[in-house]
Formats: sequence, C-alpha cells, structure tokens
Amino acid sequence: MPDTPVNQPLDIDALRADTPGAAHRAHFNNAGAALMPLPVIAAMKQHLDREAMLGGYEAAEAEADAISAVYGSVARLINADTSEIALTENATVAWQMAFYAQSFRPGDRILTARAEYAANYVAFLQVARRTGATIEVVPDDETGALNPAALNAMIDERVKLIAVTWIPTNGGLINPAAAIGKIARRHGITYLLDACQAVGQISIDVAEIGCDMLTATGRKFLRGPRGTGFLYVRHGLLDQLEPAMIDHFGAPWVEPDRYALRPDARRFETWEKNYASRLGLGAAIDYALALGLERVEARCRLLANRIRTELGAIPHLTLHDLGRDRAAIVSFSIDGYAAEAVRAALAAKGISVSVSKPSSTLLDASFRDLPVIIRASPHYYNSDDELDRFFDAIRELER
Ligand SMILES: *Cc1c(COP(=O)(O)O)cnc(C)c1O
Repeated sequence: MPDTPVNQPLDIDALRADTPGAAHRAHFNNAGAALMPLPVIAAMKQHLDREAMLGGYEAAEAEADAISAVYGSVARLINADTSEIALTENATVAWQMAFYAQSFRPGDRILTARAEYAANYVAFLQVARRTGATIEVVPDDETGALNPAALNAMIDERVKLIAVTWIPTNGGLINPAAAIGKIARRHGITYLLDACQAVGQISIDVAEIGCDMLTATGRKFLRGPRGTGFLYVRHGLLDQLEPAMIDHFGAPWVEPDRYALRPDARRFETWEKNYASRLGLGAAIDYALALGLERVEARCRLLANRIRTELGAIPHLTLHDLGRDRAAIVSFSIDGYAAEAVRAALAAKGISVSVSKPSSTLLDASFRDLPVIIRASPHYYNSDDELDRFFDAIRELER
C-alpha cells in the first residue's frame, strides 16, 4: 500500500503501480466495478490457498480474527458500531433485507426519489401490490436533486418509509442525504439510504446523515471484489426489525418450538459465506481508509469535472448529469451514435466505459426522455494521460 501522509496529495504513480489492471486498460467503469488494488487481490488469493490446503472450515477458523475484523472496517468506514453491520452477498440483498423487514398497511406511503435504482423500485411495486401501500416520488429542485422542502411538505402520519438513492447509477447527481435525514429524524420516519455509488468515493458518516439503514456494495468505488455488500441498521431500530427470511445463523434455534433472533445486525445474514470475498472487502475498506476518503473524493471530483469540461466542449455531445454538486459518474450521449457502439469503439482502444439503460432508472429516464447513455466513471487512480486518450478517442468518433 503506497504510504502517503494524509496531508499530501495522493501519489498517483504509486497507486497505479498498486493496481495491476491500470497497466492494461484506461478503466472508467468504476461505477460498474473498479479495478482492485494488490492488497485486495492478495487477501482473497491467500484465503483461497488456505482453503485449498486446509479445507474451508479449517481455513475460516485459522483466519477467524481477520474475518471478524471486516465488521470493524465497515463500521469505521461509515462511523457506525460493529454490531450495527451485516455483511451480504451484494448491496441488493442488503437492501432487500432492510426493505422487506418493514411492514405496510393499505394507504401507507413510501417516499422515494426520481432517480431510484430499478432493483429498489420493483421491490416497492411488489410490496405496494401486496399491501396496498403507495409509492410517491418527491419532486426535484431546479438542479434535479431531491428537494428537501418538497419532501417536508409531503410528510404526514401515513409516511412509513423514506427510501432514496444517494448517488444514482446513471449520473453524477448527489441527493441531499443529510437534509433528508434531518426531516426523517424530526418526524420519526424510517429512512433507508442506498449508498452504492457513494461508498468508497465520498466519506460517509451515518450519524451525520441521520439514516436508519444504509446499504452499499463492495465492487464499485470501494474497489473490493464482486459479490460483496453490507447493511447498516441503527441500534434503536434493530430490535424492532424481524428479517423477512431467517436461518439458524441469524436466528439460532434455541428450543424445539422457538428461535431467538441475534441481537445484532447479523440477524440479517445467513450461515454460509464466501470468506475470501469478505477478506477482500475488508482489505478494500482498509485501503480506502488509509488513503483518506477526503483525498479520494477530491481527486474523483477533479477528474470527473475535467471530463465534464472537455466533453462539454465537443459538438453533438450532450452531458446528462444532474445536480449542482456532482460525483464521479459522468453520463452523456453523442448524436448519431448508439451508446453501445461508443462503448465498443472505446473498448477496442483499451478504454473501458459502460452504458446505462433507461430501464435501470426508469422514472428519471422517462421523465427526461433519456436514451441509452454512456457512463464514464473515473477513480483516483486514473491518470491525466488516460483522460487525454479518452477525449481523443471521443473526438475521433466525431470525425
Ligand atoms: C449497483 C447499484 C446497486 C446494486 O448493487 P449490487 O451490489 O449490484 O447489488 C444498487 N443501487 C445503486 C444505486 C447501484 O448503483
């Protein structure tokens, strides 16, 4: 791990040397899955080797301390207590565990934001159909972010849940997570925050945000392995939540006719885990914490803003990001080019971007009449040279 004192700028060359993938591709798909740094790869490989040599149970026993330390890493990352953290297979499972533990009656209201992620929204639809709850979208402010004043005006005793995505999958918008939290706290309404695209990119403090539950993934800006995620549930709420599905890990079978839910957030977990991936997740979080999320965020913003400035000057190219203050996800389209064709042309030049389809954020895409858009999501380890290559490749398309 490159050792840069926190008061100095990040040593990008050292960080790139620590990122094997950076030598092969200009990777601007960090909102999809970032390139893993060496310590993450090593943590997972070592554990696989141990499993091969010792057996899976024996390897987990040998690594018990490191495995249990992953909860502490997550807790430190978001300023929570270790007992408030569950580790999951991905962010969606974490979110489902949180959401499906809520109960709704006919007429109960679920408030959400326009750029809500598809996985979350289809779950709202299912639960609304089953229970008679309604789903309502909080209006945006003039920049396209959720408007806290509009949210406040919607609150009444039937609002049972505020569930929003902090940074959506389809652009740089940052919803006002802490302003939403203030309103939720003031009215005692449960607040579930999807922090998938925020974690590893900006610093997160659940106490400052005021959310009750937060979900995140390992593979995106955190630079962890695929198939990892976590759930935070605030202490005061934990006792009141019964997971929609349980097993004998989250709810030990204590008497023939009785189970007892675990007191901590691990009541939302099941018994079997991918320990190598968990160790990779822990290594990724420790790596991010050692760099300092403030520095990470500053560099991400710098690169994303440079991309917006350069692309914004290209004719026939439209930037689609909303919000005043934007994160490191830049979405755009080019007249006369299908997004998928642009992605493929860039891929052929060793440049990775991704595309975002209307169906992944359908409300927002319909509201703004968005096509399939191209998504460039830089990370701190991207170099200025890589950015230049990317701009050149886009300009070449234009010709
Ligand atoms: C990627 C993403 C998810 C899902 O995360 P998984 O780890 O794939 O389950 C949820 N919400 C948002 C906003 C995302 O970008």
